[in-house]
Amino acid sequence: MESAVVVGSGPNGLSAAVRLARAGLAVTVVEQADVPGGGARSGEATLPGLLHDECSAFHPMGAASPYIAALGLERHGLRWRWPTVDLAHPLDDGRAALAGRDPGLAAQSLGADADRWRRVFAWAHRASLGEGPFDQVMAEALRPLIHVPRHPLVLGRFGAQAVLPATVLSRRFADEPARALFMGAAAHQFGRLDIPFTSAVGMVLAGAAQAVGWPVAEGGSRAITDALVAELESHGGRITTGMRVRSLEQLREVACTPDGAVLFDTAPQGVLAIAGDALPPRVRRALQRFRYGPAAFKVDLAVEGPIPWTNADCGRAGTVHLGGTAAEIADSESATVRGEMPDRPFVLLGQQYVADPSRSRGDANPVYAYAHVPHGYPGDATDAIISQIERFAPGFRERILAVSVAGPCDLEVRNPNYVGGDIGAGANTARQLVFRPRPTARPYSLGAPGLYLCSSATPPGGGVHGMCGFHAAGAALADAGLSDPGLAG
Ligand SMILES: Cc1cc2nc3c(=O)[nH]c(=O)nc-3n(C[C@H](O)[C@H](O)[C@H](O)COP(=O)(O)OP(=O)(O)OC[C@H]3O[C@@H](n4cnc5c(N)ncnc54)[C@H](O)[C@@H]3O)c2cc1C
Repeated sequence: MESAVVVGSGPNGLSAAVRLARAGLAVTVVEQADVPGGGARSGEATLPGLLHDECSAFHPMGAASPYIAALGLERHGLRWRWPTVDLAHPLDDGRAALAGRDPGLAAQSLGADADRWRRVFAWAHRASLGEGPFDQVMAEALRPLIHVPRHPLVLGRFGAQAVLPATVLSRRFADEPARALFMGAAAHQFGRLDIPFTSAVGMVLAGAAQAVGWPVAEGGSRAITDALVAELESHGGRITTGMRVRSLEQLREVACTPDGAVLFDTAPQGVLAIAGDALPPRVRRALQRFRYGPAAFKVDLAVEGPIPWTNADCGRAGTVHLGGTAAEIADSESATVRGEMPDRPFVLLGQQYVADPSRSRGDANPVYAYAHVPHGYPGDATDAIISQIERFAPGFRERILAVSVAGPCDLEVRNPNYVGGDIGAGANTARQLVFRPRPTARPYSLGAPGLYLCSSATPPGGGVHGMCGFHAAGAALADAGLSDPGLAG
């Protein structure tokens, strides 16, 4: 094998391409959109000069990713920028739970639960030392669940809590701020929160808030893409944009790869459409059974001045979770799984400009928000999102200067990986949290020589960390018996 083609230029496609190119292969990435980046793109959406992140905005997983760290992407201009409060969760009574790298935030906002919170997340402290338990947990968590652990003790302690339903773990806290803070982090998985393993996402994201923060990329999430593209090109790789891949034969025309590997940075549905006939029937059936989850409904707003939060600390936060109590979040997440649109959906709001002021123009600020809605939701959730903001920031509506909306169908049109608006490229059911995309010890292999899946439909799942691509490229190199730079700088 001397060459490889990667279908799709999201963070995982580019990460796979970089690992293959660094191993000496001739790599071509083919992207259907006019610009590379998939879920890591930014641009103007409301008013001229305001910079909005089109998809991903906050990068705890990028900052925690061993691969992104090993690539040294700051050489290509990537700079993380942190708000003073990484995450805020306001409640109706005016209190707000706060989390971030500053341990004083939990102490200040979680009252009687501050000590318990510190104990639950003790493994996430001292991350800056580079060898602390946080890095060891990340090394274990950001790979297929079924593996021989290198740090069994640390993983065992983390895993004992991670296997619990999020609803159970949240009740370890006595008061609502800590319960809601944890549940908001767990809700990032878009799904029921009362089933096993659903604490894992909450543990990782809330732990990362303390260990590495939830930074934004200076100049927008597209800076991550720009840096990965620069790294790829420095190793001779190239990207073709504006070309939707529909068959394996089409790939032979853009890249001469009769014996080369093909890696799919697509949802399983995309693999079936492009290469279904080349797959063994058992793999094809497994991919056909793969399930997609609830959707995102995205609203970008241009807002005059700061958001008038009832709790002023929310104004310092990069990310604000708007969902009320832990019980309310669990209920609204379950409703979206049942296909019902909640009156008060869980909303993630981004104020990236507090960490990266270059995104604003004068007094106009770009505000980022999306709600969790049912799969394929055809309605308009704009008012439900604005009402959730207004609930914790009365007077917000009057400050809106411009709005841009993308519902589940719009998201899928822009990126075919978001099937029915599912931005994780696959539901986080208990089964798919463990086995993604199918029950096998080789989740990246598609069961046919040279064909691999490298998108977030593989372990460790959604987020801009590049680890799905990293592991898939490693599998391709190992199968070909080629030497591999791995994490070596
Ligand atoms: C609204 C939203 C908010 C998010 N917020 C965050 C966040 O704050 N932090 C975070 O870490 N993550 C966030 N995510 C999730 C994150 O963006 C994804 O998990 C991540 O981008 C997955 O990377 P990927 O490479 O697997 O797939 P993608 O980024 O989806 O990239 C896949 C690429 O493949 C291309 N493609 C698909 N099919 C074809 C084809 N047939 N031919 C050619 N090209 C094709 C697509 O156009 C796309 O460019 C968010 C996502 C969305 C949509």
